[in-house]
Amino acid sequence: MRLTVVGCSGSMSGPDSAASCYLVQADGPDGEGGTRTWSIVLDLGSGAFGALLRHLDPAHLDAVVLSHLHADHVVDMTGLEVYRRYHPAGALGPVPVLGPVGTAQRVGALAMEEDLSALDASFTFVDHVPGRSVEIGPLRIEAFPVEHPVLAFGLRVTGPAEDGAREVVLAYSGDSDACDGLVETARDADLFLCEGAFQEGRDTVRGIHLTRRRAGEMATRAAARHVVLTHLPPWNDHEVVRAEAATQYGGPIDLARPGATWSL
Ligand SMILES: [Zn+2]
Repeated sequence: MRLTVVGCSGSMSGPDSAASCYLVQADGPDGEGGTRTWSIVLDLGSGAFGALLRHLDPAHLDAVVLSHLHADHVVDMTGLEVYRRYHPAGALGPVPVLGPVGTAQRVGALAMEEDLSALDASFTFVDHVPGRSVEIGPLRIEAFPVEHPVLAFGLRVTGPAEDGAREVVLAYSGDSDACDGLVETARDADLFLCEGAFQEGRDTVRGIHLTRRRAGEMATRAAARHVVLTHLPPWNDHEVVRAEAATQYGGPIDLARPGATWSL
């Protein structure tokens, strides 16, 4: 399994990064006796559609998985909708979109589409159901409710390691404060892509985001093997981010940056 950061700026796009979007790929059976690369994106926030074009023709996306429906995680669904519906080579057909209840209405509103059936040409919406997994090729996706002001999910993706010898887990926090659902999302994960939007001592409101200290606590409770901190707002000092998390988590900590990749 491979992770590529498409956008990692938090709450808004930044000068050097789109907002949240992560490309996850793995090789697996193509259903016709061969193998191919399967590709999903986790979230598609502000500016992310354009950045995605650097890494993948969106015609080859196998699914979009949305953690929640805040603008910085979904607004570039509008670009993907136009790309699929009006592609010069012909409409590309529907791609699965896994998301919270209400995703179709949210995307329809962004696209100013009063008749939601118009989206059927581009998307097949699938609601997250805790306890149920969805398989996209060799990738198995589970969603865990987490703590945020709107319905939000942590996402857990299980699939083949790059060497094909075992299964690996990539966990993504979406947006969340500390909670048991986040620990379950990241339990024993090989890589925990965890938000760290808040700064200790400055951002004291609860129930929205993690400070990096709390991100470190979550990773330790979950026994995650590697942490990549993300959702980094343009107003933060990113080295402070790493230092805060390291007070609570003893494993390797990286900071997300656009174009960075990790092989699991
Ligand atoms: Zn949010």
